[in-house]
Amino acid sequence: MSDLKTSSLIRQAAHVIRHADKVVAFTGAGISVESGVPPFRGPDGIWSRIDPSFADIRFFRSKPGESWPRIKEVFFDHIGKARPNEAHFCLAAMESAMLLHGIITQNIDNLHQKAGSRKVVEFHGNTRDVVCLQCGNRYPVTADMLADLPPKCPDCGGLLKPNFVFFGEPIPVDAMQFSNWAVRQAGVWLVIGTSGEVYPASLFPMDAKRYGAKIIEINTEPSNYTNTITDIFLQGPASSVMHNLCKALGISNALPGSQ
Ligand SMILES: [Zn+2]
Repeated sequence: MSDLKTSSLIRQAAHVIRHADKVVAFTGAGISVESGVPPFRGPDGIWSRIDPSFADIRFFRSKPGESWPRIKEVFFDHIGKARPNEAHFCLAAMESAMLLHGIITQNIDNLHQKAGSRKVVEFHGNTRDVVCLQCGNRYPVTADMLADLPPKCPDCGGLLKPNFVFFGEPIPVDAMQFSNWAVRQAGVWLVIGTSGEVYPASLFPMDAKRYGAKIIEINTEPSNYTNTITDIFLQGPASSVMHNLCKALGISNALPGSQ
């Protein structure tokens, strides 16, 4: 795509965002790839080299001693070290400038919060906390806690499970509620780094479109959304597209390192 075409589309997207009633962002693995978080799906994804059964809730309950060391390696040792990139910072700046109502993320990497975003609903939970399967208490994850696996609840001795959604578990209630609200109320869905393949999260932009939302999509490659529901397709890596979009919105000065 030519630079001229791209900058015209960026200006269009900025105009739509500026004039929308409410804007929500819907993010997936593609926004965190530039932060060094590998995607789960696809040819180079985590599930192509690691058997996903260790993140299945039945397997976890029956063999936590086998499951936990692999969970620690994949989700805490590696993803825990990732830092937000410019796309995450731009979304936080948009929220501060009252141009973004909230983020619905399918990621469990905590990078939106690390970038300063406040309203974030985590469709697949997060890696900040563990939850006791016996008493339901939650605790922030610490290095001490992960030193002796599987970790036990300090209160009741029950098994602690990472607070992300395992295969076979339901979507968190708060994420479903906010997403359903956003489907009906948001005038713009900013879809970033997600190709619409993970059910049921993938259906929300489709539903939002039916309720009249404009869909602005940022992906490196065309997705299931591009030729079906997307109004403005901004093709490219999330960080550079979001950098240009924030500039067009006049809020680039809000970004870290640019003042
Ligand atoms: Zn407990």
